[in-house]
Amino acid sequence: MLSCLAVVACAWSSRMRLPPFLPHLKGLRLAEIAASDEDVTLHLYATRRTAPCSSCQHRSHRVHSRYHRTIADLPWSGTPVRLRLRVRRFFCRDATCPRRIFAERLPQLVDRYARRVHRLHNALQRIGLALGGATGARLSVTRRLPAGRTTLLGLLRAAPLPPVGQPSAVGVDEFAWRRGRRFGTVIIDLEHRRPLDLLPDRDADQAAAWLQQHPQIATIARDRSELYADAATRGAPAAQQVVDRWHLLHNLGEALEQFLLHKRTVLRDAAGTLAATEPTPSTDPPPAELPPLPWQQRAVEAVRQRHAAQLARHEAIHQLHAAGTDIAHIARTVGVSRETVYRYLRLPDPPAPMRLLARRAALNPYLPYLERRWAEGCRNGKRLWREIREQGFTRSYSAVARFVARFRRVERTANQSTRPGERQHDRRPRARLPCSAPALRRFATGLRADLEAVRAGLTEIWSNGPTEGFVHQRKLRKRQGYGRAGFDLLRQRLLFAV
Ligand SMILES: [Zn+2]
Repeated sequence: MLSCLAVVACAWSSRMRLPPFLPHLKGLRLAEIAASDEDVTLHLYATRRTAPCSSCQHRSHRVHSRYHRTIADLPWSGTPVRLRLRVRRFFCRDATCPRRIFAERLPQLVDRYARRVHRLHNALQRIGLALGGATGARLSVTRRLPAGRTTLLGLLRAAPLPPVGQPSAVGVDEFAWRRGRRFGTVIIDLEHRRPLDLLPDRDADQAAAWLQQHPQIATIARDRSELYADAATRGAPAAQQVVDRWHLLHNLGEALEQFLLHKRTVLRDAAGTLAATEPTPSTDPPPAELPPLPWQQRAVEAVRQRHAAQLARHEAIHQLHAAGTDIAHIARTVGVSRETVYRYLRLPDPPAPMRLLARRAALNPYLPYLERRWAEGCRNGKRLWREIREQGFTRSYSAVARFVARFRRVERTANQSTRPGERQHDRRPRARLPCSAPALRRFATGLRADLEAVRAGLTEIWSNGPTEGFVHQRKLRKRQGYGRAGFDLLRQRLLFAV
């Protein structure tokens, strides 16, 4: 290191210009170089004879006084470098200017009042951006860049964010921050696939206010929640809303899975019937019970997970309530609506897992018979019950009563929607499938309520893919450790990265 410094020192006489490998020192001359075991100090001064007044911009050459200013530069071969600048104060020569004395500035090198040159400032900002406060501070120590955690976070907070510009198509979605307990809103430019802004809450008012500030937006891709539909309708009433295809298919998949979960006994019986009718190549005895199919395992697992989440929620809500926390705070902490908090508080005991309709399963073998009798015109529930009891049905009348009530409902609906001429032919309940599948019915109702946006989702080119990608990328960043970060820092870090 010292030999390197010797070369540098020999190359510069006190009146020489600085060499080209230090472009940020252009316009300065080196008066002296002082190297110690601790650091290197360059004594510098500006060479221009005049400087512009900071108020009126008139140049002046009348020097009032001089002072010294010390700033940090990037290290040389691991040795910290300090610049000791001799700065002049000038008299302003414009009699009308309110400023009489001004100090010369070196905008290409350092900001007013800053303690680091631009290139050190930028290097530290990039470290803070990539690694956050604590990890970034550890790295900067090994790189001999003098900055602590607080400094890095301060630099990150002060980083200028890229302008939002004039996006015409945006994606809106939620994202979880702080271990999934707090949810915010992310807004993505779908054309350029970059995040435009992060909002601290999953809140329709905030999203609507943001959209109102950008009236040129013509397309909004969103999930299927009412919250963002409401935000888009209020914030950009003229924009076309597009339901995201992924969410659409995902919700359909969930509805189908729930439907199949309810039908698992019928499906197992059907699978058994099929297996029995097929010729058996071997004489081995058939297995006592068919192993569960993959979708059945998933369905049971889904029920288990949902119940586990319900239990955790119940416990958290009751604990917070017992500690005197108010309802709004509980809702925010647990990540549910206030109505849900009230509903859980009304339940003294944890909710039971969803029943897999064992009662209806007992009736399943008799359904074809009951349907045939119903089609023949038999409407007497007790009589139907007695008839299937003779065939071996062992349960109480209530299961049959539910069946009869359901068929009556279906028949009413079918009669309302059938043309009068058709009514007498077919008394079989046509709408039986949707009626016994509330999950599919809910899905269909949701589609109808949001039909225009659903249609756009299936025909327009826009989807929320870039938004989902961003949310995923954000999860990766969170894993890099950002414990102390509040929302403002998180927003700075993710948007500045663009
Ligand atoms: Zn002036």
